[in-house]
Amino acid sequence: MCQVHPCGTVVSPLPLYRGRLAPSPTGLLHLGHARTFWVAQARARAAGGKLILRNDDLDTARWKLDFVAAMLEDLRWIGLDWSEGPDVGGPHAPYEQSRRGAHYAAAFEQLRASGAIYPCTCTRRDVQQALGAPHESALAPNPTDEPVYPGTCRPENLSPEENARRAAGLRDGVNWRLRVPDGEEISFHDGHAGDQRAVAGREFGDFLVWRKDGVPSYQLACVVDDAAMRITEVVRGADLILSTFRQLLLYRALGATAPAFFHCPLVHDEHGVRLAKRHDALALRTLRAQGKSPAALRAGWK
Ligand code: GLU
Ligand code: ZN
Repeated sequence: MCQVHPCGTVVSPLPLYRGRLAPSPTGLLHLGHARTFWVAQARARAAGGKLILRNDDLDTARWKLDFVAAMLEDLRWIGLDWSEGPDVGGPHAPYEQSRRGAHYAAAFEQLRASGAIYPCTCTRRDVQQALGAPHESALAPNPTDEPVYPGTCRPENLSPEENARRAAGLRDGVNWRLRVPDGEEISFHDGHAGDQRAVAGREFGDFLVWRKDGVPSYQLACVVDDAAMRITEVVRGADLILSTFRQLLLYRALGATAPAFFHCPLVHDEHGVRLAKRHDALALRTLRAQGKSPAALRAGWK
């Protein structure tokens, strides 16, 4: 709601809190996911805001229809509720990433036109070989993480002819990377863990924005959707902190305002194994089949 100032101008109100749940239907939801989502819901409610469900089904090779249905059911069963989403609609529909290709393509063209990204023909093996020993960041490692790219395909490392040839090339069939500002310290204030910093080019390098199979990267899709859906705070697991630095550079390159971030600490089991790695035993389905109640499972959560 806009308020009208006595002088007659419309004063735009503070943006309403908009949070989101963004599960990937690549397997069954487990207790670790649910706890993070529970925090996201609690923060949206405390702020009197909205919670949006987005189906991160970008990776069409890995997701299966069965998992989408199970995902929605499991989320509701554990006690989550949303006011916009694939099953309830809303002003920013569609809420499935597999149906938002036009948004990603437009962002890609914007990045290409501004020179923020460049095509890269390196295979994973090329990158590994150029780097020598496998590189692991000191920050929380995550499967979505990429090694620090050695810059082989940066335009300044190629001949003018090769650059011209690549510039005339098609979007698909080659990987595209965002050039990070080497040596720049990127920082943000995390709502849970406080101030975070990482040096571009050291903790993370030029990262994938578009894959050669014609699919946008997680980083691009996530930023495009969080911006388009007017998300004001992203609540997710601490394993994605390194991705947050990358995403901040994408917001900058796209001229979009970044949301606030709140990274939840990762949950470990009694043996110190991350819950995310124990899909089997701690899947919500399994726990439910064992007769556990949602309230009992949530008992220790804030
Ligand atoms: N679909 C992504 C995942 O489950 C979303 C991560 C995020 O919250 O940005 O890993
Ligand atoms: Zn390359």
